[in-house]
Amino acid sequence: MSNTSYNPYETAQQQFDRVAEILGLDEATRELLRQPMREYHVLIPVKMDDGSVKIFKGFRVQHNDARGPVKGGIRFHPQETIDTIRALSMWMTWKCAVVDIPLGGGKGGVICDPHNLSDREQEQICRGWVRQLAKDMGPNVDVPAPDVMTNAKHMLWMLDEFETIYGGKYPGFITGKPVGMGGSLGRTEATGYGVIFTLREALKELGIDITKTTASIQGFGNVAKHAAKKYCELGGKVIAISCWDNTDKKSYTFKKADGLDIDAMEAITDTYGSVDKKKAVDLGCEILDGDAWIEQDVDILIPAALENQITSSNVNKISKQVKVLAEGANGPTTPDADQIIRERGIFLIPDFLANAGGVTCSYFEQVQCNSNYFWEKDEVLEKLDVKMTSAFKAVSELARKKGLYMRDAAYVIAISRVAQAVKNRGWV
Ligand code: NAD
Repeated sequence: MSNTSYNPYETAQQQFDRVAEILGLDEATRELLRQPMREYHVLIPVKMDDGSVKIFKGFRVQHNDARGPVKGGIRFHPQETIDTIRALSMWMTWKCAVVDIPLGGGKGGVICDPHNLSDREQEQICRGWVRQLAKDMGPNVDVPAPDVMTNAKHMLWMLDEFETIYGGKYPGFITGKPVGMGGSLGRTEATGYGVIFTLREALKELGIDITKTTASIQGFGNVAKHAAKKYCELGGKVIAISCWDNTDKKSYTFKKADGLDIDAMEAITDTYGSVDKKKAVDLGCEILDGDAWIEQDVDILIPAALENQITSSNVNKISKQVKVLAEGANGPTTPDADQIIRERGIFLIPDFLANAGGVTCSYFEQVQCNSNYFWEKDEVLEKLDVKMTSAFKAVSELARKKGLYMRDAAYVIAISRVAQAVKNRGWV
């Protein structure tokens, strides 16, 4: 989506192949797991506010459902591609498996830019996407959720369309719904908080006091913002964030060496996670180039914007001070850059482990909807912490025991679980 010289699907397949080799998987299992089982390409005609009709292209990819109904977000982005969605659907399979929830992996997207669409037009895209795909989705088949540039409002439009088609109430069709409309408390914060729960555990293992650390974060949307808040709550200091500016069509880094006030930054950020430059200057921020977030002298880097952001051309700008890289985004590191991070011995918390808090809380949302009994926020976040902490510990223990890179260790656990499921079902 963001850096077209790298194909995320090829990255996902390379990562898979590497671990399939370590695990000695048989040919049939490899062939089954290294590509999606099903994918749908749809056209969505929308009557625009000016009376014209525009055709939007959408996708849904179901990578693997051996462990349960497929689960994964839907993105709205002008540069969305089927290969990005394929990669993301694979990563969803591994994500659900590494935190051991009974779900498979899927992902969806629509090529569109919500910045240039009215609410009514966005609603029509949501409803049109569901109309095209409803027969191939559902609570026991495929359950979408929010992702880049979609939120609870979009989820409710999609649910409403699904329920209109099927003539009943099916709150389990979608997660990330508004609280009070079947949504779970804590879902908005879950992904960002989950990143920090794993970071907290990593720092403990490394013997680093979190209150003495600093971080630089790419992104200031759903994941990044809540990660920043939780990290500061635990005593860390965020000194830089970077985000996209849709007016200038470029990204900027906002830096404050003595620490950003995250709540104040949030107050000057729009719904798409773009910070107001003028107001940021008033808050005492330095405004730097978009890529500057990566070269800060900090202990922790958290890429939490998009895929393909740490590449061979900027990985060497990472400061020697950096000890942990926690991947909040999906696929933020390209394979060549990953190799350098591995060689430098930076402690990596891989994407599908670090950002699994969102899908874990989505799973909690399904559980709550099914029983029609909703938990208090503290209870949701406590359960989330337990899941994330135990998944992190399992991965880091395996990495230590077998001398594996953290990404490979997470893959070994996830792929083994899915491979076992397809075998037990008699598919291979
Ligand atoms: P979002 O749309 O809320 O925020 C994206 C942020 O990235 C915004 O601040 C935007 O300005 C920034 N951004 C976009 N392009 C940029 C660029 N070139 N340079 C710097 N900043 C840029 O999205 P989100 O939901 O926070 O998702 C972020 C990442 O986390 C994505 O990779 C997504 O797939 C992944 N993720 C999200 C969730 C979730 O629950 N939302 C769960 C798991 C993984």
